[in-house]
Amino acid sequence: MAEHNIPENLPTHLQHFINGEFVDSLNGATFDVQEPVSNENYATVASAQPEDVDRAVASAKDAFKNGPWSTMLPRERSRVLHKIADIVESRDEELALLESYDSGLPITQAKGQARRAAENFRFFADLIVSQEDNAFKVPGRQINYVNRKPIGVAGLITPWNVPFMQESWKLAPAIATGNTVVMKPASYTPLSAVLWPEIFREAGLPDGVFNLIFGSGSVAGDYLVKHPDVPIISFTGDSSTGATISTAAAPQFKSLSLELGGKSPAVVFADADLEAALDATVFGVFSLNGERCTAGSRVLVQREIYDDFVAAFAERAKNIRVGLPSDPATEVGSLVHPNHFDKVMSYIEIGKTEGRLLAGGGRAEGFPTGNYVAPTVFADVKPDARIFQEEIFGPVVAITPFDTDEEALQLANDTKYGLAAYVWTSNLKRAHNFAHAIDSGMVWLNSNNVRDLRTPFGGVKASGLGREGGYRSVDFYTTQQSIQITLNEAHSPRFGADDAAKIDA
Ligand code: NAD
Repeated sequence: MAEHNIPENLPTHLQHFINGEFVDSLNGATFDVQEPVSNENYATVASAQPEDVDRAVASAKDAFKNGPWSTMLPRERSRVLHKIADIVESRDEELALLESYDSGLPITQAKGQARRAAENFRFFADLIVSQEDNAFKVPGRQINYVNRKPIGVAGLITPWNVPFMQESWKLAPAIATGNTVVMKPASYTPLSAVLWPEIFREAGLPDGVFNLIFGSGSVAGDYLVKHPDVPIISFTGDSSTGATISTAAAPQFKSLSLELGGKSPAVVFADADLEAALDATVFGVFSLNGERCTAGSRVLVQREIYDDFVAAFAERAKNIRVGLPSDPATEVGSLVHPNHFDKVMSYIEIGKTEGRLLAGGGRAEGFPTGNYVAPTVFADVKPDARIFQEEIFGPVVAITPFDTDEEALQLANDTKYGLAAYVWTSNLKRAHNFAHAIDSGMVWLNSNNVRDLRTPFGGVKASGLGREGGYRSVDFYTTQQSIQITLNEAHSPRFGADDAAKIDA
């Protein structure tokens, strides 16, 4: 077996980054962070308290009001963003090592995330220089136009799955549009975030535009959400946390974007290209250790191909290479944290009473320690089963048969979530009609999850609120003020004019 690969120069203490400086919490508070192979502490991390959040927000507010960033020409901001993308790309290897070490993601999949992070910056660097806004003319009377403005300090709160990429997804549009930010990464996976300050400094981002705080959701996250100087919150994480944040932000009418959980269906019709569907559905639920918001974690299969498809699926699952995250041969690594491992294992136990276990079913063989879960397949799962309804966020799939299109649609829509869906069929009409009828923010037809950065990303129902991606991100991170100019006399009804004095011109 390959050796556990510990990145060189691993920091043992991580600090906040506020106003261009690395700092500890004012009261010295810290928390410990573990890596998921040994579950041993590898670093202490500064833990932000309200006074630290205040400092970070004050820095971002000052940079927004007084710094050059928010009023810079888009071309100048774009140059900085392109440099960020270049630097991220040039540090691809190092970044992937840190990410894989901290989160347990297989190294080959971590490399893909670093490239996507760079692409996010390049995309918004290009978008802001080609940005156009509406102008409207009422001939001879009025011209009206949209004045798009950055909003101010954006609070960015991110989850522990693919952390660096998730962070880039929010950072790139937030700063591209001229806002300043306070970002709070998830406390399970703080490591890769410490690269941002260096990358941003080298690219020429002014101090104070980017502020980073580490800390718990309930203290630092909650305080950031409620902070009166933070008018925008972009959050990615669990649906129940999203509900808490939504309530906390409501009294101040903040702009809110919530990207939440999922229990996405992958629907396989008998007329599909079954090899392609098998590759995609296996990858769809087991890639990124199954810790993927858009995982196709419910596979719905048409009855006439059900037995064969399920048998082939289970065979693939049994052959998946579980291993050290740093081993390039590994397909499924170690789950992020022992608490999450326990959660996934408890769902597997529930599953044993709800479905027919065909692969996996517990800790991966040969891994007595670490958070290794064997890729697990349950077939014949009924729609009222908890493993059909609830997000497990690990390498566990529920497979269910269907007979007709109507039944497939009902099963597909029968959860509280609505993030993604995948449909496999060679019938064009069915593909589109079925896609239109699914309650989900995104549908992939005959494809696994391939993102086009121009398309809207987000969910319906308990999977989220709002859309980011392409122009939707620009819309979210800016305010659109409409300006009206009269070209003619101002025609106002003359209230109180009869006996009132006139202005001597
Ligand atoms: P989580 O909700 O536990 O935590 C996410 C972030 O919110 C962390 O930084 C956490 O510290 C913070 N937080 C927790 N409580 C908070 C509070 N009261 N106020 C403010 N911040 C708070 O989620 P997680 O376990 O880190 O991530 C996994 C979840 O994220 C899964 O449900 C997954 O589906 C979802 N996810 C969704 C998407 C998407 O785009 N829809 C993408 C990735 C992950």
